[in-house]
Amino acid sequence: MSIIDDKKFIWHPLTQHQVHPNNIVIKKAKGAILYDENNNEYIDAIASWYTCMYGHCNPYITSMVSKQMQNLDHVVFTGFTHEPATKLAKALIHILPNNQRKLFFSDNGSTSVDVAIKMALQFHYNQGDKRNKIIAFENGFHGDTFGAMSVSGLSVYNGPFKDFSLDVERIPVPNDSNIDEVKKQFIDLTSKGNVAAFVYEPLVQGAAAMKMHKAEHLNDLLKIAKDYSVITIADEVMTGFGKTGKNFASEFMTQLPEIICLSKSLTGGLVPMAITSCSEHVYNAFLGPNMEKGFFHGHTYSANPTSCTAALASIELLNTVEIQESIKRIKDSHKTFISRIDKHPKVKSTRQQGIIMAIDFNIETDRYGDLRFKLFDFYMSKGVYLRPLGNTVYILAPYIISEEQLSKTYNAIEESFELIE
Ligand SMILES: *Cc1c(COP(=O)(O)O)cnc(C)c1O
Repeated sequence: MSIIDDKKFIWHPLTQHQVHPNNIVIKKAKGAILYDENNNEYIDAIASWYTCMYGHCNPYITSMVSKQMQNLDHVVFTGFTHEPATKLAKALIHILPNNQRKLFFSDNGSTSVDVAIKMALQFHYNQGDKRNKIIAFENGFHGDTFGAMSVSGLSVYNGPFKDFSLDVERIPVPNDSNIDEVKKQFIDLTSKGNVAAFVYEPLVQGAAAMKMHKAEHLNDLLKIAKDYSVITIADEVMTGFGKTGKNFASEFMTQLPEIICLSKSLTGGLVPMAITSCSEHVYNAFLGPNMEKGFFHGHTYSANPTSCTAALASIELLNTVEIQESIKRIKDSHKTFISRIDKHPKVKSTRQQGIIMAIDFNIETDRYGDLRFKLFDFYMSKGVYLRPLGNTVYILAPYIISEEQLSKTYNAIEESFELIE
């Protein structure tokens, strides 16, 4: 393959091409391994942004999809329906938190959040209730389309667009020392009656470098939201499908969200798709004798049959004893690794939720500072693909990663302590 043509024709995401013109050519991926054009192997320790949790080119998913695509490729999902969608819907509703009743299809995590925001705003509008504000956490990340970007709090992404945003109030993520203040701020905001929705990444803020918070604190906020009829939107695009140790992070709270956003590992990394699920309470507000109360949002590729098939196959895999045992195994391995490095002088702090593990190094640096690139190159030289952010390195590996591949990943991280000055 010609890297020349890449440089000539392609604009990569999240890339400053003037400083970083070179992209590594990946030729093949299998299980937990990526192969470059020279056949070098890299352990995909972040599961290609948390997508291919059952392993790359999983033979079960690819065979199901290959069968499906001989039979029905795509059809408009307005006025038509099909078995791949209904089978998936039934299987997904079965594992979702038990107040979730209806699924709305779109294409990626950002659109699933935009759909959720529009649902929440129209939910109130349909009842003649004017609500124009949304509450979100500081440093949350919900995607790159305008709605999703508006509720995200990471300035590197949003800077140039901040004058074009929805009306969003940002609150700090609660912890043991600020919880009373955050609750007070949350009540002050919601009691005014103009807050339509509260959008949050439950328990783990992915793009903020796997920052974690306690279920009990989030639960407190969800309770308040309920008191003031604020629609709660759990963005489980990253946390969904087993990564936190339960199928969905929302299961750690007693207060269930009205709306849940899903994408990333929904199709096991094979093809793009997203789902916004909601409660009966939300869905019913869109019913009426004429069209105008309906939800006028629809993407061309809604519920694409091949994507639905990949998602159904992925859920079947998630439910297997093998995958459930792997999740336990990885959790335990992370715990052991953390106790091994926790006291190292280069380690500032560690955290873990399910199979998600993060280490903060004892150094101040920018999100995209030089250290990040130095660490990245080091890990790649050790045959491990990790994407450090600022002073954080995290592991979110496919469930099928072997113990040997995990040890290699841990060792690479431990050796990288030498690079921290
Ligand atoms: C990745 C991510 C998104 C955006 O998903 P895309 O598919 O990249 O649009 C939204 N929310 C969370 C929590 C994410 O991790």
